[in-house]
Amino acid sequence: MKSLNLKERLAQQQAAQLYRRPVCLESPQGVQIRIQGREYLSFASNDYLGLANHPDVVAALQQGAATWGVGGGAAHLVTGHLLPHQQLEEALAHWTGRERALLFSSGYQANLAVISALLGSGDTLLHDRLNHASLLDAGRLSGARFSRYLHNDMDSLSTRLSRARGNTLIATDGVFSMDGDLAPLPDICRLAQQQDAWVMVDDAHGLGVLGKTGAGSLELFNLSSQEVPVLMGTLGKALGTSGAFIAGSHELIEALIQFARPYIYSTSSSPALACATLESLRIVQKEHWRRQHLQQLIALFRQGAQTLGLQLMPSTTAIQPILIGDSAQAMRLAQQLQEHDLWITAIRPPTVPNSSARLRITLSAAHSTAHIERLLETLANILPKEQE
Ligand SMILES: *Cc1c(COP(=O)(O)O)cnc(C)c1O
Repeated sequence: MKSLNLKERLAQQQAAQLYRRPVCLESPQGVQIRIQGREYLSFASNDYLGLANHPDVVAALQQGAATWGVGGGAAHLVTGHLLPHQQLEEALAHWTGRERALLFSSGYQANLAVISALLGSGDTLLHDRLNHASLLDAGRLSGARFSRYLHNDMDSLSTRLSRARGNTLIATDGVFSMDGDLAPLPDICRLAQQQDAWVMVDDAHGLGVLGKTGAGSLELFNLSSQEVPVLMGTLGKALGTSGAFIAGSHELIEALIQFARPYIYSTSSSPALACATLESLRIVQKEHWRRQHLQQLIALFRQGAQTLGLQLMPSTTAIQPILIGDSAQAMRLAQQLQEHDLWITAIRPPTVPNSSARLRITLSAAHSTAHIERLLETLANILPKEQE
């Protein structure tokens, strides 16, 4: 077999301080985690509401498996669409105020599915420059022309819209995953309407957290299905389980069922998992205190960080990154935090733009105010020495 230069490519990655490896948790997901026999206070998951290991969600999964088994057993269009899947799709549509919803095994898959089904060569996809990688990959798969506008910059979007050809879709994160800021969705929708383009919002980090009932960015801005025809939500973040869905009009969902290959050619997720997600959805909808407590923690953290003179980003969400810049330094800081029993992930290029490595701090409703105080104290001890 011809050499694929793997050794060389791996060495380059290492030399560039970009080498990644998964860490193995020896505990369930939560704010208290164990890694290599050591306990850490974690600010590094997307379990924003503390539901990933909630006893009622665990019980629903167990009960679901007892009733429906573990495996979906086939693709949805064959015999893999079970009653819990159907009930979850209906509950998600109702929650998000859309006519229909369609389940996927992951957000990555949902993004590939919807964009490749809606667009083809001759069409145009407009991306915010900080959009999630799965949206970019979806654009490539679709064969559409694509163009990235400057982050949250409506002049840049407007210029690109006026040059767009064919069917045009504007895709944006609702909450940007590595920065935590919101997309200016009402402005995006206004521009889209003027140019007869469609808007798609990937609300992986808004769903569950934003809006009165936690239905996300679109609820926060009160945007209808007409204004935002395509909503993608993930279930592995604030909802604490896994999977994703697309919500929209009856026609959109029917089109996905006919044309979206990542939907058609993939086995359904576990029906027991759908039971678990139905339970976590019930909790998200009724326990408003989780969102309120999270908001209090965010305010407390930002206040404290400002007092310390840390370089915060303009985020009002649970994602509160501290910009470091240099990848090696970000790694060093993450290491020092570990020595103080805090687990925070350093995020490096290509996940973020060059020279914008950061500590991605995420807060959860499962944190206490004492946890935030401990985080601030530790940052105060570590960061000044490094940043001077
Ligand atoms: C996590 C994430 C996804 C992918 O969802 P998975 O269910 O983890 O595959 C898509 N978009 C955004 C913005 C995300 O943060």
